[in-house]
Amino acid sequence: MNKDIVIIGGGQAASSFAARIRKHTEDRAVTMIGEESHFPYQRPPLSKKYATGEMAADQLLLRSEDWYEANTIEFMAGTRVAGINIQDKRLQLSNGHEMSWKTLVFATGSRPRTLPAEMGGALEGVYALRGIADADNFAAELKQGRRVTIVGGGYIGLEAAAVCASKGLDVTLVEAAPRILQRVACPQTSDWFRKHHQDMGVKIYENTGLNKIEASGTKASGILLSDDTRIEADFVLVGIGIIPNADLAQEAGLEVEGGIKVNDFCQTSHPDVYAAGDCAAFMYRGEITRLESVQNAIDQAECAADNVAGQPRKYEPHPWFWSDQYDVKLQIAGLNRGYDSIVVRPGEREGSISHFYFLNDNLLAVDSMNDPRTYMVAKKMLEAGKNISKEQAADQALQLKSLL
Ligand code: NAP
Repeated sequence: MNKDIVIIGGGQAASSFAARIRKHTEDRAVTMIGEESHFPYQRPPLSKKYATGEMAADQLLLRSEDWYEANTIEFMAGTRVAGINIQDKRLQLSNGHEMSWKTLVFATGSRPRTLPAEMGGALEGVYALRGIADADNFAAELKQGRRVTIVGGGYIGLEAAAVCASKGLDVTLVEAAPRILQRVACPQTSDWFRKHHQDMGVKIYENTGLNKIEASGTKASGILLSDDTRIEADFVLVGIGIIPNADLAQEAGLEVEGGIKVNDFCQTSHPDVYAAGDCAAFMYRGEITRLESVQNAIDQAECAADNVAGQPRKYEPHPWFWSDQYDVKLQIAGLNRGYDSIVVRPGEREGSISHFYFLNDNLLAVDSMNDPRTYMVAKKMLEAGKNISKEQAADQALQLKSLL
């Protein structure tokens, strides 16, 4: 099989790349190779509206199946790439077939970190929450009165805790770090969400190690904490972070540094091989960085496609994130890495609040809880490279909009 542009991956980044390259040209053949049996779909609803049955599987699709045919994008579902020869520009599929390519795009994403089998990570009733199949397992357990233990207090763990608590399950969440959301947010944001979850009946253990998941026969029956506390559970959900899928690139001899290393133009260490999304690592503000977000998957993939199409431009991310928990919409503008101070600004509506992150008096990021107005202004300011003083951020009488 002789191919032209080959995209490895079938998620958000792969889909965004394909759509963008088609906007540039109809002359180049595009093939996407996806390991899952589904056409590219949105992941954010999996832990929420999809799990609760408010959203059906076909509503998750990023683009309809017809779109691929209409745009002559060949999508090879349920197919895994087993190996790549960069020098000869060929790759092998797990079904034994080989193909040649002219431009290769890694949109391989990431996979959930798992607990080792010795800790009970492979028992029945222990779930991750990453793909449709995982969400189907989770959805089947969402029955009032069931007891769930969630390992990990990041976005996945907390969003799942919110869904479970709202559905009347008995929820315990265990976080190894000193506080929930430690990797992504300031103590004030962690405190705010801890209180909200506790008010909704979630039992939260922080700074608490997990010894193992206990079993009754082959099925999980609870967990044993490092302080010998035992918590019984009907099922266990593990949300302890992700690992970028960079192994294939590494085996092919491409440079890998915490992810598939790309330059400003989304090119890997081979000029005809690109990478975008969760799997790609790039220099951002002087540090090798991976951004695990939908925004990054879309924007970086589109930038890669522009470069492949001969319209060179640098990838300049404007990170933003969001998380829905209960009736709370958390919106995050910017990346808070390295912050040295926080300003708390209550929002205009009751219960709304924003946390401003600064480094050396420069605004880095803002977390807004049910405070979309502040979020929008902060996002625009960060994108325009404008700054705000800590005094201004703290001054509730000041209309932030007036600073734009
Ligand atoms: P995450 O944000 O990395 O959080 C995982 C948490 O689990 C961390 O706080 C981690 O602490 C903790 N942890 C690690 N090992 C543990 C252990 N053995 N016992 C207890 N806690 C442990 O990752 P995630 O929540 O699993 O989410 C996976 C990915 O999906 C992330 O990229 C996330 O951004 C993305 N996601 C995003 C959204 C959203 O934006 N709304 C929603 C869902 C998922 P340490 O940091 O100390 O290891």
